[in-house]
Amino acid sequence: MAQHFLLSSKARTLSPLKIARLSDAEAFAILCQLRRGSEKEQICPKCGVQHTVYKITTRNRWRCRYCKHTFSITSGTIFSNHKLPLQTYLFAIALFVNAVKGISACQLSRDLNVQYKTTFTLAHKIRESLIVQRELFPL
Ligand SMILES: [Zn+2]
Repeated sequence: MAQHFLLSSKARTLSPLKIARLSDAEAFAILCQLRRGSEKEQICPKCGVQHTVYKITTRNRWRCRYCKHTFSITSGTIFSNHKLPLQTYLFAIALFVNAVKGISACQLSRDLNVQYKTTFTLAHKIRESLIVQRELFPL
């Protein structure tokens, strides 16, 4: 008999405890790896040309040599123009996806130590992106 997915080791890859212990640089590196493969290989989101970007290390952003477009790791995502640290967003995602029966914005507010209005918006953004992903990749 097959083991339930939630009991397997694959279900424990995104642990909230692991994410809570991340530093700024580690959270940034994880986002780079998840989004584009690595921190060094970035693709310009405007013109789509690879190997023409250089990193502005003081701002954690990249600039395209071809079209001069400046972008960050959260550009084009639900976290663009973010104000909270990246760990907070990763932690919110971990809490959101690990809650089997869902999580309320009020609970998320207490866990993240931010205002209810912030987590209400964040939870809606996460739900909206899940719906978009589901429609892009049907079963
Ligand atoms: Zn470009």
